Amino acid sequence: MTAISPNTREVRIRPVRAFADNYIWLIDDGLNAVVVDPGDAQPVLAALQADGLTLTAILLTHHHQDHVGGVEDLLASCKARVYGPAMEILPVCDVPLSQGQRVDIEAPALSLTVLDVPGHTAGHIAYTGQVQDVPVLFCGDTLFVGGCGRLFEGTPAQMLQSLDKFAALAPQTRVYCAHEYTLSNLRWASTVEPDNPALSSFMADCQSRRDRDVPTVPSTIATELACNPFMRARLPSVAQAANRFSGQTDTDPVSVLAALRTWKNNFK
Ligand SMILES: [Zn+2]
Repeated sequence: MTAISPNTREVRIRPVRAFADNYIWLIDDGLNAVVVDPGDAQPVLAALQADGLTLTAILLTHHHQDHVGGVEDLLASCKARVYGPAMEILPVCDVPLSQGQRVDIEAPALSLTVLDVPGHTAGHIAYTGQVQDVPVLFCGDTLFVGGCGRLFEGTPAQMLQSLDKFAALAPQTRVYCAHEYTLSNLRWASTVEPDNPALSSFMADCQSRRDRDVPTVPSTIATELACNPFMRARLPSVAQAANRFSGQTDTDPVSVLAALRTWKNNFK
């Protein structure tokens, strides 16, 4: 018999649903698990128990309650290490992180790098790396499928810079965002770019997934670059659409992103 060392076990990623539309990402190797942004402990504890998993680490992207609300309840029954943004106030944080720092977890075997991605909140971070040789991104509420987070604490310029960091990742990078907002985002995106064929076919695919109650997350960076207006703020067609909405004539990408964000905020 060959012993399987903990760091050669297959690692998988799946969503744990919470609240109305949150995804808490559970990364496990069949024995040990990591969760990203556990806003609620109960569904995480249920998933851990169902599969006999031990929680070893909690990764946090930002301070909002629907992302951190379950941390203390999880720690009451699990001895997990908590990683989170250095610049934000969190219920618990053992390892404060910022741009360029690495997170190395032994079990499940996980090596991630931190990106500072302010905009939605002032100290928001994202985690990127490879899982089973596939590039992954855990981006919290900064990037959504077809959209981006509201600018509660940051500026359009900061959000543009944060989205540019994501745009520079490998196109096949899987985007694990924290909410199922896709259909509403894509309905708005098709108003911004009614003639984008990639968007039409992606929207049909996402609609069919939602009809079967299947998550539309993760998407990929390539898909976001093809379909997400916030990732396309530098395209003349997107700038023209944003200007039609705002009445401005500025094609500077920061102004375009600001106009897109206001447009989406008011879109019904
Ligand atoms: Zn948030």
